[in-house]
Amino acid sequence: MSNSSLVTYTKLSPNHSGKRSHIIDTISIHCMAGNLSVESCGNIFANPARKASSNYGIGSDGRIALYVDEANRSWCTSSSSNDNRAITIEVANTVAADPWPVSDKAYASLIELLVDICKRNNIKTLLWKADKSLIGQINKQNMTVHRWFAAKSCPGDWLYDRHDQIAEEVNKRLNLNMEDDDMNIERFKELWFELRKELRDNDSASWSEEARTWATEIGLIAGGGTGDDGNPNYMWEDLLTREQFVTVLYRFAQLMGKA
Ligand SMILES: [Zn+2]
Repeated sequence: MSNSSLVTYTKLSPNHSGKRSHIIDTISIHCMAGNLSVESCGNIFANPARKASSNYGIGSDGRIALYVDEANRSWCTSSSSNDNRAITIEVANTVAADPWPVSDKAYASLIELLVDICKRNNIKTLLWKADKSLIGQINKQNMTVHRWFAAKSCPGDWLYDRHDQIAEEVNKRLNLNMEDDDMNIERFKELWFELRKELRDNDSASWSEEARTWATEIGLIAGGGTGDDGNPNYMWEDLLTREQFVTVLYRFAQLMGKA
C-alpha cells in the first residue's frame, strides 16, 4: 500500500486507529469548514485532543497534504466501518459559510488526487447515487459523505452537489488511462455509447449543407429528438444503420411515386 505522489506536504497525525480492517474501496470527501492551509489543518490534526484526522487535505492553493497514511484508518467520518474502507479527504473552503465553496485549484487537485487514489487502489469507477441507503454497497455507490453518519452538513452543499460531476470527471480520466486488460465488452459498450452521444449534434461541415437542407426539407431525414438548442437533432455524424438506410430509401421511393 502506498500514498499519493501528488502530496507536497506531510504532517502525520497521531489521530488514527492503525492498520485498516478493510481494503480501500470507498471515497469520502469532506470540507474543512474554513479556509485552512494544509499546514493549519495539519496542526489541528497533530493535536491528540482534537481526536480528528483525514488521510489527505487540500488547500485553496491546490496543494495536497498527507496526514494519515492510506494504510491506516483515519478519524474523519464519524463511522468506524466507513473510515476503515474509505480514503478521507478534507478540502478547504474559500468562504466559511453555506454552501461552503472550494477554489478552482482545490477542485482540480481533488480530481487529480481521486484519479491517483483510484488507480493505485484498483477502484475502476467512482459511483455516486446520493443515496444513503446504499452505504456499503460499493458496486452501486462507492462515495460516501459525512452528513450520512453525523448531524453535520459536511462536505457542504457546494461539494455535495458536485459529487456527480466529480465522479464523471474522475471516471473520464480513469478510462483514458485504462490498461488493455481492463477493457471488456461491457466497458466497450459504454465507451461506444459515449462516442455516439458526442456525434449526435447538428455540428456538421459546410460541404454537406446543401444536401442536408434538401434532405430535411423533403422529409428524407427526420432525426431523433431535440438538440440542446431546441432544434431537431439530425445526428448527422452518427452511424446509419441498415434499418435507417432502408427507411430513407423507402421515403425516397415514396417521394418518387414508386412505393
Ligand atoms: Zn467531514
